[in-house]
Amino acid sequence: MDSSDKNHAANSCLENNTSDDREEKDKEFSPGYKDVEAFVKYGLGSVLLATKASGGLPQAGDEFDFYRSFPGFQEFCEVQGDQLLLCMSQIMQHHNCRSHMRDRDKLTGLEERFDLVVDCNDVILEKVGILLDEADGVNRSQQPVMPAGFQPPKIVVSSWNRKGSGSGGRSGTFRMLQAKNIPRPQLKFKEKVDNSNTPFIPKIFIKPNALKPLPSYFTTKRIRKERPEDLDVPAALADLIHHQRTQEHIEYMFVHPYQFELDHLAVPDSLLTKTEPKMYKPLEETSCSFIETLEDLVAMNEKLNEVSEFAVDLEHHSYRSFLGITCLMQISTREQDFIIDTLELRSEMYILNEAFTNPSTVKVFHGADSDIEWLQRDFGLYVVNLFDTHQASRVLNLARHSLDHLLKHYCNVDSDKRYQLADWRIRPLPDEMAHYARSDTHYLLYIYDCMKAQLLDFNHGQPGLLQNVWNRSKDVCLKKYAKSIFTEESYLEVQRKQKRSFNTQQLAAFRLLFAWRDKLARQEDESTGYVLPTHMMIKISEELPKEPQGIIACCNPVPPLVRQQVNELHLLVQEAREMPLLKAEIAMQKKGLIPVKKPEVTLFGPHDTSRVPECNEPHFSADELPVKQGMLFTDDDHNSGNDVEKIRSLVASPKITLFEEPETKEIQDSLSVAQMKARRIIESFENPFRMYLPSSGVHVNENAKFDPSSKIFEISKRWKLQSMEQQQREQESAKKAKEEAKQQAKKAAEERQKAKESYKESLQNVATVRQQATECAKVAGKKRERVPSEDGESTSKKLKSAEKKKAKAPPQEIFKPFDYSQSDLKVFSGRKSKDNSQFDPNRQSHDSKKKKMAGKKTGAGNRSMSYLAGSSNRGFRHNWPKR
Ligand code: AMP
Ligand code: MN
Ligand code: ZN
Repeated sequence: MDSSDKNHAANSCLENNTSDDREEKDKEFSPGYKDVEAFVKYGLGSVLLATKASGGLPQAGDEFDFYRSFPGFQEFCEVQGDQLLLCMSQIMQHHNCRSHMRDRDKLTGLEERFDLVVDCNDVILEKVGILLDEADGVNRSQQPVMPAGFQPPKIVVSSWNRKGSGSGGRSGTFRMLQAKNIPRPQLKFKEKVDNSNTPFIPKIFIKPNALKPLPSYFTTKRIRKERPEDLDVPAALADLIHHQRTQEHIEYMFVHPYQFELDHLAVPDSLLTKTEPKMYKPLEETSCSFIETLEDLVAMNEKLNEVSEFAVDLEHHSYRSFLGITCLMQISTREQDFIIDTLELRSEMYILNEAFTNPSTVKVFHGADSDIEWLQRDFGLYVVNLFDTHQASRVLNLARHSLDHLLKHYCNVDSDKRYQLADWRIRPLPDEMAHYARSDTHYLLYIYDCMKAQLLDFNHGQPGLLQNVWNRSKDVCLKKYAKSIFTEESYLEVQRKQKRSFNTQQLAAFRLLFAWRDKLARQEDESTGYVLPTHMMIKISEELPKEPQGIIACCNPVPPLVRQQVNELHLLVQEAREMPLLKAEIAMQKKGLIPVKKPEVTLFGPHDTSRVPECNEPHFSADELPVKQGMLFTDDDHNSGNDVEKIRSLVASPKITLFEEPETKEIQDSLSVAQMKARRIIESFENPFRMYLPSSGVHVNENAKFDPSSKIFEISKRWKLQSMEQQQREQESAKKAKEEAKQQAKKAAEERQKAKESYKESLQNVATVRQQATECAKVAGKKRERVPSEDGESTSKKLKSAEKKKAKAPPQEIFKPFDYSQSDLKVFSGRKSKDNSQFDPNRQSHDSKKKKMAGKKTGAGNRSMSYLAGSSNRGFRHNWPKR
């Protein structure tokens, strides 16, 4: 073990000691230390001393070897080394880490020891991270709050960090539960989650309460079902096919299915006049049904169709899923509470559209912005006639707009918000969580009454303010769910937010890691934050580790997928390291502003040659060709007569051909592969004459254009010629376009006809949910099979039309969970092929741009992987109403 290693070992040893002790000390303060402060002070002092001492050891190389030649020194080193190793292995054992550290004779011993130290440090720091998070307040921890007795406790949260939360006495003892213990609900989904990098297409296929029929596109299941990742072709081709398929439906694919109904929604007078608030039933006297079968869901839907208002809320999970999953729906009528297991009933939830889009039933939500999107994304549900108490709170200008506050203000109820970030995938749902979920809607109708009355009072009985709330709520309903689409530039947005300046290599690494993360997250159906948290990605990009171990060292704790794919990541980092640095960056490095990563060969200078003094530029004329030294590649012979041409074409062929005739094909053919490569690289440089080229944004002196001696004259003449050619081409394509337009108009007429037909059909469908209920009640034994066999139903046309939509095709098979491990990486390829550029995946997303990122909380540091609100770039694009 050389001294630098000893250095490291000594440090880690002490580090381990401190963190280890830090963990222990709260249970029993070490003898001799009166409080935490005293202990920490001592601990840090020791670390400092040890660091100093190790700094004083002879350095590796000459000095160390010289000292080593003295037997006394050698012996001392051995003894100390043994002691350190012993100390370290004890600490490791204490933390249940592998610790065969004393195996000194092994050839690979040193490397192995180093790995052991790194691994163990990871484990310890992870523990420290968890404890610190906990001390910070439980809601910052990735672990959900769990009620006592749910599962054998893993880590017991002691009372020391909950001094302040004694109020209410409702909270018992809480324990943490590792999120990884929860089975993935996605595996049970009947319909595979669509993580493809394509815009979201509404799931709706049957439209109750329609004033305008659903476009035939949505009712024809076959087309709806076909998605790019289902095609067994390369990603680019799949994209293209998908694009062509969807192109014909593009006009209404991104329209809100209930746009028309919402636009024509008028608030009845009864909702704009004062009524006495109706007190809520006490929680204890209210029945609460947990809905997990279709039968119960249908029965509940019946009830909802009979009431004039009901309250709704959702609970959501986004850490272990790419797009996020709605886990629970809570509904309260004046009489009853319902908690719906939306993981279980995911593909059946759509039946609730009957009540949810019924314009004569008021749906009360609090802060429905994200709920509206989740409903669309997961169930194809829409809301018509919403009252959002969050919007009301704003219009009333209350002190705070959170549900907490409203509950306290109107109902004098204290709510326990610690459950908000619980892992809502847990089943069976623990009583405490159910209680919390229920209280989110139980009081909401009463609050709605109160707020309505208050809005009228504020305005001296005039409906203005109240109308305002209805309007705002309608706007919330009009929100459309849009996936955030991965583009070549996505990484820049994230990188910019980091407020760090990256050099070319670092930025390249960030770009590559970002794409890797996105791809893997889609494939594995995990959040990007789970695959690789952004702060770790930044660290790896900054450090550009040379070894896979270095990548691991940048992550703490190491995300499972990073550990699994560390070699892949290493290749990406290597690829980034091969990027040439820009001149400015090299200069910065020389000045010590950027740490030098490795010497770079910059064969090609920066793009802008105009600033390089002329003497620096290679000067080539036929007689003084730098045949040898100018050649980058020497894999061909130089004796042929067209060498001159070759070199000319290699070094001096700008992209534009304004000042010389375009070269003949023979020259190109005569170039070697290497020369061609070099040429392509050179040609890819930005054209320094761009400013002379005609373009709408560039000003060119008009007179110069008419002066035959000026370059501009030459250029513009050539451009005139070119543009004439272009005009011809344009005329031709215009002709073609006209023909196409004619055909499209024809098609559109056909579509309209189809839509009319589907309108008739869909009007019939409205009744069929109920019929389905009766049907379902019949097959109650077979809960999940609600598909009557085709031949048995020929008499009932109505029933058939509805059932056909939901369940006929594909032929019912036994549900097989989607095996993500079998999935093909290629199909989610985020990189769009260039020729596909006319397909703009962002065309649907301008709505979503209005949304602000939720990432107000930052500063996770890099001490733990704790999932913070807003730390994921995808799952949490929402503007959370404060609770
Ligand atoms: P709520 O509307 O308060 O019931 O919240 C619904 C869901 O939104 C919860 O289940 C959480 O998944 C998520 N959520 C609510 N508030 C936050 C927050 N401050 N940070 C992160 N997620 C939140
Ligand atoms: Mn909510
Ligand atoms: Zn809630």
